[in-house]
Order: sequence, then C-alpha cells, then structure tokens
Amino acid sequence: MTLMTGNEYRESLRDGRKVWIDGERVEDVTAHPAFTGMIDAMARIYDMQFEDAFRDALTFEDGDVRRGRFYKLPETREDLVMRRHMTHAVLTEVCPVMDRFGDETVSPLFVMYDRKDLLDQYDERYHRNVARWIDKLQQTNLFMTSGNTDMKGDRSRQPYQQQDPDHYLRVVEERADGIVVRGAKYETGASYAHVAFVKPTVGAWVVENTDYAVAFIVPMNAPGLRHICRSPLGLGVDPFDRPLTARFDEIDTLLVFDDVFIPWEDVVFSRKPDLARLIRTDLTRWAAQGFLLRSFAKADTLVGTALLAAEQTRTITIPQVKQRIAELMVFRETLNSFILAAEAAAQQTDTGLWMPNQAIQNAGRVYASTNYNQAVHNLRDIIGGSPVVVPSRKSFANEEIRGDIEKYFRVGDVPAEDRIRVVNLAVELTSSAFAGRAQAYQIFAESPIFAQSMALYESYDRQGSVKRAARLANL
Ligand SMILES: Cc1cc2nc3c(=O)[nH]c(=O)nc-3n(C[C@H](O)[C@H](O)[C@H](O)COP(=O)(O)OP(=O)(O)OC[C@H]3O[C@@H](n4cnc5c(N)ncnc54)[C@H](O)[C@@H]3O)c2cc1C
Repeated sequence: MTLMTGNEYRESLRDGRKVWIDGERVEDVTAHPAFTGMIDAMARIYDMQFEDAFRDALTFEDGDVRRGRFYKLPETREDLVMRRHMTHAVLTEVCPVMDRFGDETVSPLFVMYDRKDLLDQYDERYHRNVARWIDKLQQTNLFMTSGNTDMKGDRSRQPYQQQDPDHYLRVVEERADGIVVRGAKYETGASYAHVAFVKPTVGAWVVENTDYAVAFIVPMNAPGLRHICRSPLGLGVDPFDRPLTARFDEIDTLLVFDDVFIPWEDVVFSRKPDLARLIRTDLTRWAAQGFLLRSFAKADTLVGTALLAAEQTRTITIPQVKQRIAELMVFRETLNSFILAAEAAAQQTDTGLWMPNQAIQNAGRVYASTNYNQAVHNLRDIIGGSPVVVPSRKSFANEEIRGDIEKYFRVGDVPAEDRIRVVNLAVELTSSAFAGRAQAYQIFAESPIFAQSMALYESYDRQGSVKRAARLANL
C-alpha cells in the first residue's frame, strides 16, 4: 500500500457506488459536473503530498516510506504543530473556504485508540481494529468522511422510543462474521470519499439505546448503501459569476444503510452505550483544531475581501469603515490566538498522546460558531448594495450593453471587470446559496452550539475557579 496520487484518487472513485443527485442515478461521480470541482480539489491535495513545498506538511517519514500526516497519531507536541501546518497548507493552497477533506475526521479514532484499557474490557478486537485502520489510513491516505448525525425523527424522544426504529442508525443483527446495520446518516463529501467513519450522535447513551450504540468504518461502495445527494449549487454556474460555488460545492449526502453488512474487522464497537458516551464526549479533541483553522482561514478571507472592496470604492478612507474592518480583524486574530494558545498549553492524555488544551480549544469553537454570522454581516455592510445589480458574465459579453457595464461599474482606475469580480466574491461569502450553506456549516457541522458549550463546560477547570471564588468569599 502506498500513498495515492490525484489520478489514482480519481480512478479509485469508479467503484460501483450507488449515488443519486436530483433523482438521477450517477454511474461515475468523476464524470458528473456536480462533483468534478471538489474531486479536482481533492486530487490536488493528493498530488501536493509528492511536491517538495508540501511533502513535510502532508506526509511523514516511516523508515524508507512516507505516510499521510492526516492520520498520524499525535505522539509529540511537534505532531500537534505539524497538524496545524498540514491543514493550513491545504486551506492556503487549495481553498480557504473548504471544510471536509479528511484531515479531522480521524479524531474520534484517536480517542478510541487512546482508551485501549476501556475497549479491551468489552472486546479486544475493538482496539486492534482501530489500530489497524489508523495504520491503513496512514499508508494509503484514503479520504475518510464522518457520519454522526441521524435523521432523528421526533427530537423529544430517545432513539429507542421513535415511532420508526430506523430514524437512528442501529444494529439489526450481530453475526459470527460481523454486524448488519440499518438507518441513515448525514455525510458531507461521501460521494467522492472512500470510507466513512460512522458513529453515534449527540444523545443520552442509556442502556435502552444499546442497539444504536455502534461505530464502524464502511467503504462508500458497500452493498446496500445508497447516497442521496442534495441538489448541487454549482451546476452550469459560471466561475466568473460564482467563483466558489462553481468549484467548491461540497455536496452533502443522506447516506442510507439498507441492511449493510460490516465485517468485525471494521467494527469499532457494537451495542456498547458506554463507548458511545465516550466517543461523543471526546469526539472533537483533535477535530476542533481543524475547525478553528478553517474558521481562521474564512476570517482571513472576509478581511481580505473587505479590504479589496473598500479599496476599490475608496470607502477605506472613512474611519467607520476602517472600524468595521478592524472588527473583522479582531475576529481573525482572536481565532488565531485560540489556535496558538491551545497548542502552547497542550495537554497529554492518560496514555501520553498530545492534544490541544481542551478548555481553550472548546472556548474557541463556541466563539468561532457564535461570531461567524456577525463577521459575515460586517462584510455585507462594507460591500453595500452592489450585489443586487451586478451583471453576469453573459451580460458582460453582450456587445450592445458591454459599454454601459464598463462605464458604470468602473470606479476611478478600477476597471468594471475587477470591481465585479470582487463583488462576486463578496456575494459568495455573504449572500449566495454557497454562503448560506457555509453559515449553516459553521453553526452545525461541529455539532450545534449548545453541544459545543457543554463540551467547554466539561473540559473547564471548574474546581479551580470555585476554589478561588470561595476563598474570596471567606467560605
Ligand atoms: C452544511 C452541513 C454539513 C454537515 N455535515 C455533516 C457531516 O458530514 N456529518 C454529520 O454527521 N453531520 C453533518 N451535519 C449535520 C449536523 O451535525 C447537524 O445539523 C447538527 O448536529 C444538528 O442536528 P439537526 O440538524 O438534526 O438539528 P436538530 O437536532 O433538529 O436541532 C435543531 C435546533 O434545536 C436545538 N436542539 C436540538 N436538541 C437540543 C437539545 N437537546 N438541547 C438544546 N438544544 C437542542 C439545536 O441546537 C438546533 O438549534 C452537517 C450539517 C450541515 C448544516
């Protein structure tokens, strides 16, 4: 097994997976325009591994072979620093507003690797499976997505209380050679990934939910698996008009498991509520670093776009506009501080793995999710009303009206085309369907904000604060 190139990645997706989009069955995702933008982006990441400029950020040496850093266990402080460089390299080189590319979905596998003692109490195969999968992922750099969220049905009821027992994914059979699962999960990027790590959602992992307490790794072409994709945003869209939608539409999928067989080698645990609770509690230990890095890259893009727009129209000379941009800079630099502080105050797990400081990182997650919409609003304010009158490339190409567009969209020395390109980028960050999805991602994809707040509450040194306050109160 060796690391894949971009072309090998494309080839590997022609594996008979069952994908539907807008009601149409897609035989080959690499040939369908809904997926080609993101497949190109992923292929670029695969190729980056072999280039001098990115080799060390994306891979590491193991004897005389190189392995993928996305899946390297954080055994040293340096590994944490390198994880930052790795994600930063992809966001900078490929796209700063891209979310699912496989660097953070391994986090819950690290959590399970770290708790061999607990896993072995249930079944010694579990930890062996986790270790084998981490090894395999490092060797091949398979693109692994993440399936946590079920369709849930009635939110006031537990999984076992639902009218339809399949509204949460569950084990319907345990056999000598594996388990059979039924249900459905959300999965960003599933249709152009290789495998998914499927695990329980946020919830109360009481004993009655035993059948639902299951985690496993499944290939995206497994028999019985159906990918029902959301409608694409970028089909037929001109990259001039929608520069992000046209190239980086990360298709989200409802993955239906119609009695899918999972061999024991790929099972992380089956019917174990205690392990479901564990994986949910510590799910984002390492993934949240990737989330903060993405939030930082988005904040940087908001600052850059605001500066470009305000420079073009010369609103940059107005102190109140500078103040608005400074607010965006505060957002960027606060995220930067959370990332660097969590890394500087890194902690070790009981078995010695290094993780970013959890209280700082969890506070950063809540901050990033809560403040993103305000940051987007700041850019919207700076760009003004131009987005609603901006003409498309087709209008620009029409000789009869081209002169008008060139005349009225020119701002001083800034030609109309440059002005329109900047407005179009701002639209992609503030008001297009792409922007709407990005905003939903920011508040939900790392679990909803209330769950992030609970994670902060649990990771915070409450006793320390209580002790100091109690002393002051002379208790
Ligand atoms: C763009 C995008 C991409 C995504 N990608 C993935 C993915 O790749 N993999 C994956 O597994 N999931 C993914 N998700 C799903 C995401 O994890 C869920 O949307 C999120 O967990 C919320 O679940 P829900 O949508 O069912 O909302 P609901 O559970 O219906 O929640 C709706 C509202 O009710 C609140 N609420 C619900 N329950 C409680 C409670 N007990 N206490 C307090 N408030 C509560 C929520 O906070 C929210 O405000 C993605 C979501 C988006 C938007």
